[in-house]
Amino acid sequence: MTDHERAIIERLRVKPGEHVRLKDRDPRDSSLFGAEQETKTATDAIARDIDVLQDRLYAEGSRALLVVLQGTDTSGKDGTIRTVFNATGPLGVSVTAFGVPTTQELAHDYLWRVHAACPRRGTIGIFNRSHYEDVLIAKVRKLAPKEAVEQRYDQINAFERMLTENGTTILKFMLHISNGEQKERLQERLDDPKKHWKFNPGDLEDRAFWNEYQEAYETMLHRCSTQHAPWYVIPADRKWVRNAAIASIVKATLEEMNPQYPKVSWNPDDFTIA
Ligand code: ADP
Repeated sequence: MTDHERAIIERLRVKPGEHVRLKDRDPRDSSLFGAEQETKTATDAIARDIDVLQDRLYAEGSRALLVVLQGTDTSGKDGTIRTVFNATGPLGVSVTAFGVPTTQELAHDYLWRVHAACPRRGTIGIFNRSHYEDVLIAKVRKLAPKEAVEQRYDQINAFERMLTENGTTILKFMLHISNGEQKERLQERLDDPKKHWKFNPGDLEDRAFWNEYQEAYETMLHRCSTQHAPWYVIPADRKWVRNAAIASIVKATLEEMNPQYPKVSWNPDDFTIA
C-alpha cells in the first residue's frame, strides 16, 4: 500500500464505534488529491490496475470482493461504477441495483435478495444501493416498525461477518454530497433532455427529508462500520475526487488481498502445440 493510499484510507474510513457528524465532513474536500486533470489521469491508470488485480482474483477463484455504494439521489453511484470499473473485464464483475422490493422480495426477510446477489468466488460484486436501504428509507419513511429497524444494525453486522468469514472482503462507500450540490444535479436533470429519464418526482419527496436522511446515515455509519466491513465517507461533490478516492481504496484492498494465479500440476514444457 502506498503512503497516499494509506492517507486516503485513514482519513475517510469510519472507525468502529465512531460517531460521525456529516456536517463536519466537507463534501467538497479535495485536499487528499492534487490537480484535477492529473488526478483524473491517475484514476484511469488505477482503473487499469484494478483490472489486472481482478484477473488474478478470477483465476484464483476462491475469494470475492463486495463493493457497496450508498448515497442520496444524484450522489453519483452510477458514475462511480462507470469510472472506477471502466477497465475491468465484465466477466468478473456483477452489478446489482436495489430498487423498491418486489412482492416476491417482500415475502422474504430483507436480506434474502441481498444474499442472492452477493458476488460468487473470483468476482467483484457492486451494489448500487443495498441492504442499507432497510435502515435508511425504511427508517425515514417508516416502512418497517421502529423496533424492527433497530434490530437490523446488529443483523447486518452479523450477516456481513458471515460473508467475510466465508471469503468475501467488503468495502462500503457512502457518497457524501451537499444539499446545494443535490439541488444543482436535480435541476440539471430537469434542464437537460438527455437527463430527463433520470428525474423522478419521488426524488423531491426524499429531498424534503434531507435532515432525517442525514441522521439515518449517521446512525448507520456509527452502528455498522466494523473491523470486518468498514464504511468510508467519500467527499462526493466533486466527481473526480469521489472517483479517485474510491478507485484508490478498491485497488489498495485488492492488493492487500493479493490474489494468486493458481499453480498448475503439469509442466508447460511437456506440451507441443501442433
Ligand atoms: P436510483 O434512484 O438508485 O437511480 P431507482 O430510481 O430505481 O434507482 O430508485 C430506487 C428506489 O428504490 C430508491 O428510492 C430507493 O430508496 C428504493 N429502495 C431501494 N431499496 C429499498 C428497500 N429495501 N425498501 C424500500 N425502498 C427501497
